[in-house]
Amino acid sequence: MKLESRKKALRYFFAKVVEPLGYKFSPDEEMADFLLEQEVGLENKFGSPFCPCQGRTNRREEDMKIVCPCIPFHKDHFDYMKCCWCRLFVHKDVTDPDSLRQIPYSEFRRAKDAGQAG
Ligand code: SF4
Repeated sequence: MKLESRKKALRYFFAKVVEPLGYKFSPDEEMADFLLEQEVGLENKFGSPFCPCQGRTNRREEDMKIVCPCIPFHKDHFDYMKCCWCRLFVHKDVTDPDSLRQIPYSEFRRAKDAGQAG
């Protein structure tokens, strides 16, 4: 499978999935391209474009929740961060992805329980 053509195909497909969810590709083109390249490598090796930033458990049911784009499985958490865990996707209004940070799920839960998150 040719790397560039597969990256292009994933871009096309992913955009269709994430746009209705309020996300877009990160404006950091270099990082987005790097992450897509990692995903193509994972797809070639394991059969699906797994997340390059989240560890697989080798339990199929769990691992299918980190096939990109995994936003539907983690939407509340990612909406709170305004980006997905890898920052491949950001909320549509984000112009500076470097201003966002990864917020651990436990921290998100605490904020949610305190009524500070959606
Ligand atoms: S965290 Fe982002 S890059 Fe990783 S699988 Fe989820 S949507 Fe894709």
